[in-house]
Amino acid sequence: MNQIPFASFVPMEKELGDAIKGAFSRVLDRSFYIGGPEDEAFENAFAAYCGTKYCVGTGNGLDSLMLILKALDIGEGDEVLVPSNTYIATALAVTYVGAKPVFVEPDLRYFNLDPSHLEETLTERTRAIMPVHLYGQPCDMDPIMSFAQKHSLYVIEDCAQAHGATYKGKKVGTFGDAAGFSFYPGKNLGALGDAGCAVTNHAEIADRVRALGNYGSDYKYHHIYKGNNSRLDELQAAVLSVKLPHLDRMNEARRKIAAYYLQNMHNPEVILPQVIRDVSPVWHIFAVRCRKRDRLEAWLKEKGIGTNKHYPIPMHLQPCYTDLGFHEGDYPIAETISATELSLPMYYGMTDEEVQYVVDGINSFPG
Ligand SMILES: *Cc1c(COP(=O)(O)O)cnc(C)c1O
Repeated sequence: MNQIPFASFVPMEKELGDAIKGAFSRVLDRSFYIGGPEDEAFENAFAAYCGTKYCVGTGNGLDSLMLILKALDIGEGDEVLVPSNTYIATALAVTYVGAKPVFVEPDLRYFNLDPSHLEETLTERTRAIMPVHLYGQPCDMDPIMSFAQKHSLYVIEDCAQAHGATYKGKKVGTFGDAAGFSFYPGKNLGALGDAGCAVTNHAEIADRVRALGNYGSDYKYHHIYKGNNSRLDELQAAVLSVKLPHLDRMNEARRKIAAYYLQNMHNPEVILPQVIRDVSPVWHIFAVRCRKRDRLEAWLKEKGIGTNKHYPIPMHLQPCYTDLGFHEGDYPIAETISATELSLPMYYGMTDEEVQYVVDGINSFPG
């Protein structure tokens, strides 16, 4: 066994390839490509899966978040709280609507936004919190929701890495005012290209997101907003409808891998991820931390084990955000994660031998 990729689509494609090709043919035979029955069917199925009243397909996860912010009239002069440790899209969505992302430090144990840091980031301009269920692990929603209620803030969940994850038995995406999902191919539920959606229980938000993503149009050639073009196309919707019924089973396979990793990895140099109480993560990413992270990366690479870093540069130090005026040391927890985090192989269809090989690779790391 000399090559274990960081991620692989091959086992999924072997199982679902024929059904996916069937979906292509169905769309092709119908000669209808945008805003048709596939989109509607997937939206209904995904809303039912999440347990929300509405789902609106979009072009990608970034747009989902951006359109929700727009739908809530968040823009110029407003501040939105986002974790200092996330993928850039969360912060960019805020920037795109003209608002200012204000970073909140995560909890080093769970990598997610630390509710105890919310108070210090609040100003009279704060309008919303965007908790990110990073790596597929749900945020601690109870304290986040009560903070939001106390200060009349919107909550927009970034669920791009957490399709199907639960907090106290309830799916993520159902706690806040609305939630954005990404169906980027590598996500737990992935299309064969860019795709995304917004879910919500509020009809007005759903209607606004749909209009905003369709050139701001409520009916044909009538434009009530200066909108965007960001829609879920029929081909991607058809693919997602094939994959959705398998999502829970595929997430369960990830949970098994994670459980085996957690039980069998023992190396004082390697800090394993912790999970908060009463949640069921979906392990989009299995993130460990190591002071000698780059040495660990090289050690595993030598053994043919693929890894990745999520994310090597924290938001506030990204070149595109120099205008925010931050310096190294401003968000020490996010910086620590960036400097020490390593993501281990995690994908549907990893064999027991492959999982064991990764465990052996970690356990034999000399430091
Ligand atoms: C992938 C991702 C997004 C953006 O999704 P796209 O579909 O790539 O635009 C947003 N937030 C997080 C946390 C992500 O991982």
